[in-house]
Amino acid sequence: MAKAIHRFQSGTDVLALQMDALYKAAPASVLTIFGGLIAISAYWSPQAKTGLLIWFFCICAPAAAYAIGAMARRSGRPKGWGPVAWSHISKAIFLISGLAWGIGGAWMLSIGDHSQTLVICCVVMGAITCTFPNVVYEPAHFLFQVPILAIFTITLAASDVEFGGLLAIAAALLCLALVVMARAVGSQLTLALHLSLENKQLAEDLAERGIALERANRQLSVEALTDPLTGMANRRQLMNFMRTNAGRTALLIADIDHFKSYNDSFGHVDGDICLVLVAGALQNAIRPGKDLAARLGGEEFAVILSDLSLDEAIAVAERIRGDVQTLIDAHPRQIRRPVTISIGLAYRSSERDKTHANLMEEADSALYEAKNSGRNRVSAHSSPSGDLPGAAPARA
Ligand code: GH3
Ligand code: MG
Ligand code: MG
Repeated sequence: MAKAIHRFQSGTDVLALQMDALYKAAPASVLTIFGGLIAISAYWSPQAKTGLLIWFFCICAPAAAYAIGAMARRSGRPKGWGPVAWSHISKAIFLISGLAWGIGGAWMLSIGDHSQTLVICCVVMGAITCTFPNVVYEPAHFLFQVPILAIFTITLAASDVEFGGLLAIAAALLCLALVVMARAVGSQLTLALHLSLENKQLAEDLAERGIALERANRQLSVEALTDPLTGMANRRQLMNFMRTNAGRTALLIADIDHFKSYNDSFGHVDGDICLVLVAGALQNAIRPGKDLAARLGGEEFAVILSDLSLDEAIAVAERIRGDVQTLIDAHPRQIRRPVTISIGLAYRSSERDKTHANLMEEADSALYEAKNSGRNRVSAHSSPSGDLPGAAPARA
């Protein structure tokens, strides 16, 4: 919001929008040619023709500069010109144009007869009316209209044109009215530009916040499903994974043997390192995407194996047990004494056989069995005795 307010207050941003609006109206400058031609045809005479042609050039040159400027702006040239530079250019164009119309019109008033006076007054009124949209950038608007009306007021007041005094008062009043109206309309337009800028900024802020929120949500859901110590899946992710596993499933629950004494002997920091290495051994033994290894809590882990036969699942469990047992060889500095795990294994052939809760209970009781029968071994619940033929004997 603070950023939005900052943008809202940025005058250059509003000036840029004003320049956009001002230069968009440039095609209307072609009307200058028509206005000029009407005045020239009304005043054309051998004596006036040179003056008329010079005047025509003087009103067409700034109109052409305005149109060329609009095209250059649209193509982003000259490079590096900001809204301030364009505002100076527009002020110069409109001042020159206003002076050309004012001085030229006054000259025509002074040489014209009654009907010609009427024509030049109408043409000038047309020029003033057609340029009213320029009020979007008040300085340019005033620099065009005020010189014309001021020069006309003075010229009409001093001339012997019929009703010259009245026309001078009308021109002065018109000038005053235009200034008042331009101020009112101009400030409304500027406010509208401010609001449109603020809206744009708010929309951008909202989009930015949406992206940040989405990122934070993603991070949060990763954290909600991850064990912070080992970086592996946590119990919640394991449960989610189990729910999606409909077919043949083996659930292994692994528990580090005598881990309390390991902690007591070497401290919690080394205990944590041991947990991380055991987690790594579990993760290395599974097929990413098909299986999942998770830390249930403390020194207890679980592995889900999908789509394997019971024998294959037991083989994987044995491999994991062996890998943990040899961790000390691979990491002699981090593992302070031989570490072993006991694994309880539960198996189902299809979802119809057992629920996830059944699998959990069976794996738990198989683990209990493995611990009771000496540790450092795999016990499968489906095995009648609970012990596996050929399961490795406890070493530690
Ligand atoms: P058993 O062979 O019967 O499993 O014996 P055990 O000592 O491994 O089991 P017990 O449940 O008595 O002890 C588990 C220990 O695990 C207790 C605690 O000090 C340790 N532990 C649990 N969580 C963490 C942990 O995050 N970091 C560390 N370093 N130790 C932990
Ligand atoms: Mg233990
Ligand atoms: Mg335990």
